[in-house]
Amino acid sequence: MNIALFLEMAADTAPDRIGLVCDGQRWSYADLLAGARGAAALIRDSGCAHVALLDESSEAAAMALFGAALAGVPYVPLNYRLADADLGALLERITPALIVGDVDRVRRLCPADSNIVLTRAAFVEAAQARAVDAPSEGEDGEGVAIQLFTSGTTAAPKAAILRHANLVSYILGTVEFAAAPEEDAALVSVPPYHIAGIAALLSSIYAMRRILMLPAFSPEAWLDLAAGEGASNAFVVPTMLARIIETMAKGHNPDLPALRAIAYGGGKMPIELIHQALDLFPATGFTNAYGLTETSSTIALLGPDEHRAAHGSDDPIVRARLGSVGRPLPTVEIEIRDEDGAVLPPGEPGEIYVRGEQVSGEYRERSALDADGWFPTRDAGYIDADGYLFLSGRADDVIVRGGENISPGEIEDVVMTHPAVAEAAAVAIPSHEWGEAVGLIVVPRAGHDAPGEDELKQMVRARLRSSRVPERVLFADALPYNEMGKLLRREIKKLFAA
Ligand code: ATP
Repeated sequence: MNIALFLEMAADTAPDRIGLVCDGQRWSYADLLAGARGAAALIRDSGCAHVALLDESSEAAAMALFGAALAGVPYVPLNYRLADADLGALLERITPALIVGDVDRVRRLCPADSNIVLTRAAFVEAAQARAVDAPSEGEDGEGVAIQLFTSGTTAAPKAAILRHANLVSYILGTVEFAAAPEEDAALVSVPPYHIAGIAALLSSIYAMRRILMLPAFSPEAWLDLAAGEGASNAFVVPTMLARIIETMAKGHNPDLPALRAIAYGGGKMPIELIHQALDLFPATGFTNAYGLTETSSTIALLGPDEHRAAHGSDDPIVRARLGSVGRPLPTVEIEIRDEDGAVLPPGEPGEIYVRGEQVSGEYRERSALDADGWFPTRDAGYIDADGYLFLSGRADDVIVRGGENISPGEIEDVVMTHPAVAEAAAVAIPSHEWGEAVGLIVVPRAGHDAPGEDELKQMVRARLRSSRVPERVLFADALPYNEMGKLLRREIKKLFAA
């Protein structure tokens, strides 16, 4: 029950097979394992309590992840996009650490002598020089494999803890145990500090699928790498897919005959975008993967067959499934509960709770699991009569107007059906009368006249209860997203405040 076992199995089965390609360099499974074992020796010698990465994806990320696992020390990939003050505060929380990546920035923000800081190249070189043959013991399942800081939108970032047992259960429960054909390759373009990047690394190594690491995403680089290396699988966030499709439409459109499967998740996929993708990639199977850091990533999936069926169907119920995140994995349980914790029947919206071996629900300071092991996701949604899970937003995004709970998704879904609306988001704005009211921000579709404010209000009034009618409407050229494609509602609230 140690994640390093996946790498040891791959290196045992096919030592010379290429396991990772990054910046044109190719690393066999044997190379990666030797690097991880050397890294484990370095980490042990250092006496550090954490191994951190402050760097883009590379072979060093894989060696640090598995090296930390073998040395029994938590791996902490850090978000290099954070502002100095925020990053400095996180560095203080993990000192003493062996930190790989941006040496100058670490020294400037956290001058503690007890840290050991190495550039990516120095770390890889030192790990290779320390080649150790003996298999390492590592931690058992209860040991901490990874500590990931959440993005900290509402309070200080939480340090989510994932134990080896959580991650191993996730991989064993979702990835078929059969070595993939040698030509198979998974394109990993999500950053290393996100659970999706870690899950992609672990599942590819377990399936023995060559990892094509794209250190910094651009749609052109993604298309070129996929074409040049014959990617068979990829994971993207919705904004990446939108930019890839845009770039293809502009003529940067290489053949991708090997691309069999694209999984997506991390944020809400616009329905129209997935229809477009299904038309553009008729031979590719799409999977919507819903999950959280605290659940070791995916807990529900909408698979390729369901995508095709929904895309081609005239039946409104089947077609609407493209807006769902699918059904729970067989290895987890999902329940919808009301504010008092009572389990709700199909069709009733409430908060999504999840339970299973892969669910850690644990932070460094406390556990969020209840006595029966259920984790409250803070996502709102419902399960339909056929077992499909629909998300309606984060529980924290709910607009409470005069005591009535309004989920932004209800309003956004209505407004998005307007042909001149490209994107829409509803947020809570302060109201003297109601405490909170609905603010709506709309991005008009290029080539269309912006819809009128009254027209939009009228649309909502015609389809929903009057409490949902926006109090104020703003128009913008684009909505604010972070690099993982998450809509930044706090930034939208600032626009209303201004
Ligand atoms: P924080 O918890 O600090 O705000 P975060 O939201 O970035 O950080 P993550 O664990 O990265 O935390 O993201 C999990 C959230 O992403 C889920 O709770 C859900 O709201 C959203 N999400 C994940 N997958 C999907 C998906 N397939 N469709 C829609 N939303 C998704």
